[in-house]
Amino acid sequence: MGLKLMCVTAHPDDECFGFGGALALAADRGIETYVVCLTDGQAATNRGNAATGAALGQMRRDEFRRSCKVLRVTQHELMDYQDGRLEFVEFPVAVGRLVERMRRFRPEVVITFGGDGGQNTHADHMMASMLTTAAFHWAGRAKRYSDAGSPHQAQRLYYLTANFHMPDRPPAMVMPWTVTLDIRSVRERKTEAFRQHVSQAPLMEKTKAMFERYGAEECYALVAAAEPQPARQGTDLFEGLPG
Ligand SMILES: [Zn+2]
Repeated sequence: MGLKLMCVTAHPDDECFGFGGALALAADRGIETYVVCLTDGQAATNRGNAATGAALGQMRRDEFRRSCKVLRVTQHELMDYQDGRLEFVEFPVAVGRLVERMRRFRPEVVITFGGDGGQNTHADHMMASMLTTAAFHWAGRAKRYSDAGSPHQAQRLYYLTANFHMPDRPPAMVMPWTVTLDIRSVRERKTEAFRQHVSQAPLMEKTKAMFERYGAEECYALVAAAEPQPARQGTDLFEGLPG
């Protein structure tokens, strides 16, 4: 049976802006991928020509679907949480919904944001990290959420991190990375996925120089693993996993 990668994000465009390289590289290796995005991005600063929040949400749902297609994501899902409000969700309920999804998809590797909230330190990104971290650990415990499918313990949890600060932003408290992914072979696809987010075109323009300078790599930190081990540097999220 092949390897599986699950990615939990907060907003449409996180899947390419943040994790696009990892997702595209996995697809090229025949690794099944599943992206769960918690909100439809209605609270975005860039609103395209949307007259209402609901219209923007619908627009961004479509953009998310197109971006996932470019990245050749196997399964994608946009959940119904409110953009900008993730810190107010009922924690155990929200974790339970992710546990159910992890038990259904049964990934070996899970990727999400770190507690820093990603490079723009967005509170929704922090919450995606915390909810996913709890779900990662609890999905494997039979006593937790016993009505949410049969237990499944993924082998590794990684947080997205970075080896630079975003210009013109208060610096994030970045987690030291353990994996540096060379994403040059899929770099153009990551950009193409981002281009599908037409409503976020001003953001793309703003971050263009940053991606030109740093866009050849994505950095991740291994934060949980099945085998006790010292932190060490690697170049592959799946290194040593059978598959
Ligand atoms: Zn985001």
